[in-house]
Amino acid sequence: MTPEDATRKMQFLFQLRSKGVTDARVLKAMEVTDRGAFVKGHFADRAYDDMPLPIASGQTISQPSVVGLMTQALGVQPRDTVLEVGTGSGYQAAILAQLARRVYTIDRHRILTREAEARFAALRLSNITVLTGDGSFGLPDQGPFDRILVTAAAEDPPGPLLLQLKPGGVMVVPVGQSDTVQSLIKVTRRSDASGFDYDELMPVRFVPLMDGLPRE
Ligand code: SAH
Repeated sequence: MTPEDATRKMQFLFQLRSKGVTDARVLKAMEVTDRGAFVKGHFADRAYDDMPLPIASGQTISQPSVVGLMTQALGVQPRDTVLEVGTGSGYQAAILAQLARRVYTIDRHRILTREAEARFAALRLSNITVLTGDGSFGLPDQGPFDRILVTAAAEDPPGPLLLQLKPGGVMVVPVGQSDTVQSLIKVTRRSDASGFDYDELMPVRFVPLMDGLPRE
């Protein structure tokens, strides 16, 4: 790492802390995950700025502080199996892979899942499984999950995903109409499976969760 890179990384971590990302494990996971590897072309030199950036298929890689706050809210434990809906660049999944035993990540764009899979292989992240499909239905064969993170905005937390949460499990999902204010919601399935508790965390802005598969 050049001295410039080291300074940029320190500023990146300082920025995350100042925005409320204080969990030591989350900060460590974000320190070791090079966001530059997930951003292509002329945006690569903005990789350590705290802003969302465009990726392929008209999608975006989320703002690092939002990634940090979502990951922190999810409270991932080392033995957890995690589902992420909305692979995008793969950046969020790579961070989850540092914290969990196994990560499943799904996106409806095959171009994105292929690229993400290649990045995970290059970074030797062997505990991530990438799938292409409509993630609103979750992965009934691989579930239930300890944690579910949705990185696209749904009108409501998708029912199939709620049912694929283990008792005591947590889902973090942005909820709201696209292009209006969305709220980041934390849903906890009660340990006795008697129902779900909902906490509203903060306003966010994500691309919408879409139905079905795109024509590619
Ligand atoms: N987590 C990503 C950013 C996600 S952007 C990252 O770290 O880079 C939101 C992603 O959700 C987009 O890639 C979009 O294709 C995907 N998406 C939208 N609706 C979906 C659905 N129903 N199933 C799976 N993926 C979906």
